Amino acid sequence: MTLSINCKDAGDPVCTHTMYGETEEEVLKNAKEHGIKEHGYTEESWNEILSKNLEHFKKIIKQV
Ligand SMILES: [Zn+2]
Repeated sequence: MTLSINCKDAGDPVCTHTMYGETEEEVLKNAKEHGIKEHGYTEESWNEILSKNLEHFKKIIKQV
């Protein structure tokens, strides 16, 4: 099973990058790496966003 999450669905106004993973945990880990690398998040600020929006993030994860 492959899961994906799209940056735009996650709330970014312009980025349409899609992250993939085999599990929810993996796709969120890839999203975190992308967020840190491309959107200037730090480990700390990302974890804060994730904990506040976890339900939303889980909802927008799609099965490919
Ligand atoms: Zn992005």
